[in-house]
Amino acid sequence: MTTQTLPAVEHFRSSTGVEIYRIPAEAFPGFWAYAYLLIGAGVPTLVDTGSGYPASTEGILAGLASVTADFDPAFRLQDIARIIITHGHVDHFGGLVDLLEAVGGADVGIHPLDRRVLTNYDERVIVATRNLTIYLKSAGIQGEALTALLQSYGFSKQHIRSSKVDFVVEDGDEIDGMQFVHVPGHCSGQVAIRLGDVLLSADHVLSYTAPNVAAESITHYTGLGHYRDSLRKVQALDGIRLAMGGHEDPIEHFYERIDRIQARIDQKLGRILTIIRNSEAPMSITDICDVLYATKQGFERLLALQQTGAYTEYLYDRGHLSVANLQAIEQSEQATVLYNVL
Ligand SMILES: [Zn+2]
Ligand SMILES: [Zn+2]
Repeated sequence: MTTQTLPAVEHFRSSTGVEIYRIPAEAFPGFWAYAYLLIGAGVPTLVDTGSGYPASTEGILAGLASVTADFDPAFRLQDIARIIITHGHVDHFGGLVDLLEAVGGADVGIHPLDRRVLTNYDERVIVATRNLTIYLKSAGIQGEALTALLQSYGFSKQHIRSSKVDFVVEDGDEIDGMQFVHVPGHCSGQVAIRLGDVLLSADHVLSYTAPNVAAESITHYTGLGHYRDSLRKVQALDGIRLAMGGHEDPIEHFYERIDRIQARIDQKLGRILTIIRNSEAPMSITDICDVLYATKQGFERLLALQQTGAYTEYLYDRGHLSVANLQAIEQSEQATVLYNVL
């Protein structure tokens, strides 16, 4: 997944007069993320911090430095007094500790559901790894394949240090003209930030990709049901002229983009039903994933397995699938769950 534009700092202004600087960072090799500097919404505020990989943090610092000349008196890095994290994924908060240091301290805010990801990261990784292990086993991954996938899960997270959190932002909160909308699904505590006619949509709405959504059985408040509810929630906001996400390009046709994402989800749900229906035997999540995403390897396969689980779980929860091997599941907690179409 790469962005379609050459990354450069871009400047936008909201209808409420907030200057918005969109700052690119190479979060992981070849994978770009965006942080946003807001001037004019209370104290100078940074939204998201990249991954914390050296190239990512350097990119954000260089981007911030390039903004200084736009203001008289010049904007200084140390003027940043607030950092808001849109959600607890590494490519958005991994740079937090280093950037806090670089700006000489700032108040940190995040939604309560992702707060402990920042403050107690070790705990988060251990609990999430345990839930993921249980999930992968019931999805049909065992033995060495399981070990390899869990390793790829931990790989991008080793450099993270826990951080302080000074305040929380909840659905409906308004702080200095920033209106917060809780949009769970892609991540439990994800928030979008509305500034007049501009919506910082985090990873909830992206310009090209339907954002990755993992199964809710791994983490509460994620999953496709919450994700779709959150799409409806932001689609009901009136007057969004421009949306900008944590990746990819600015979105000028926000409402149409949401329609397209919903249509793609429906298409994929239909495809999964067809795959199971056409199968001679009941299928596990891994079986379905191997048909849907045959070529994915390593970390990408892990994402594909989580995403397939989110879709399968969504269909099961809504009564479109049945479990085919109840006896095996009754006998062993380790049993792979197999599905039939109802
Ligand atoms: Zn994310
Ligand atoms: Zn992201």
